[in-house]
Amino acid sequence: MSAAPIDLSTFHPDEIIYHCISPALDPETIRNRRKGHVSFCWVCLKTDTDVGRTLRRCGKCHLLSYCSKECQKKHWPEHKQECGKDDVPKFIPKLVKTLLANPLLCLQLQSCFVLAFDLIHRARRDEMLLAQLDVAVEPSNLTDFADIFLGQGSPKKEVPGMLQLNKFVPAKDVGSLSDLDPHVRHMHGFWRSEFALAESEGVYPCAVGMLAVSHPESELSFTVPLRILPSRRDFAHIWISGGLLFPSGVPGETIRVPYTVENCLQYINAHIRADTANQMLLRAVMRPFDIQLIRNAGMNFSPLAATVLAKMEREHVYKALWETYLERLKAAADRFRASGYKNGGGDWFLPP
Ligand SMILES: [Zn+2]
Ligand SMILES: [Zn+2]
Repeated sequence: MSAAPIDLSTFHPDEIIYHCISPALDPETIRNRRKGHVSFCWVCLKTDTDVGRTLRRCGKCHLLSYCSKECQKKHWPEHKQECGKDDVPKFIPKLVKTLLANPLLCLQLQSCFVLAFDLIHRARRDEMLLAQLDVAVEPSNLTDFADIFLGQGSPKKEVPGMLQLNKFVPAKDVGSLSDLDPHVRHMHGFWRSEFALAESEGVYPCAVGMLAVSHPESELSFTVPLRILPSRRDFAHIWISGGLLFPSGVPGETIRVPYTVENCLQYINAHIRADTANQMLLRAVMRPFDIQLIRNAGMNFSPLAATVLAKMEREHVYKALWETYLERLKAAADRFRASGYKNGGGDWFLPP
């Protein structure tokens, strides 16, 4: 007796993609792929392969790579102006490389470029596509998140966290490129080299995106290239008609949403959240800064926290928490009005 043939049309494309990609999601494979991440010398653009070893990084900021002491010295007069000032926390570049080594999540990062730069209709091999990606670390457990956000409970000693993507802004929307990053000249070099490298490996991207990754703790960003493969455009057509499907946050439940840049981020964030066994290696312990950022968001306190609030408002998993937050804001506003504005509004947003 043979098994009944499986009707593939009953599956959502994301279920099939997940099935095909999941063998490549074990920690060992991700670690190996992460090792394969190529860095360029900031000065002469030589790669790890060119010099036959991993490029060394600036020992102070850990953000820039150099092929040699000579190249580092040459760049120092310029780099010392910014090195060591408000640096991106050291573990963030590693988490981002891990993200890029993950074929499932990388697919939707490429989608962000496909959608934001309209790569569906034409390849853009002649332009450097630049986008800013805001990342943060937040509690992997929603209860911890709610406790910090609403200012409840006694603070835990160690709060388990995870990488999250808060915002993707294509450079056409961020004003002048020099505002985004002072190193656009170098980025052009990276961008060209990444194309050449891809082609030497027999890969022909329809575009190469440059991601300027930034973290709220730092004014500096670091840049990583992302190859957009022509097949991603074909996938895009499937998602445009079928939407994106991913874990909702409730075990065993999925959610389906339209194919947009924000929902591609939500897809990535939801998969990281669902990975409770940390197979994807994207978990990290929350630092005081990360905790304070979420607390500030709960009090609507800091402009830096605006991205956290915007993410909460649009992502499914925070729905109940977001409603609680809005009710509290309203209640605080009502109390303030009832007080006849006597308190001057000093405690306007503070928890009751
Ligand atoms: Zn060099
Ligand atoms: Zn440095």
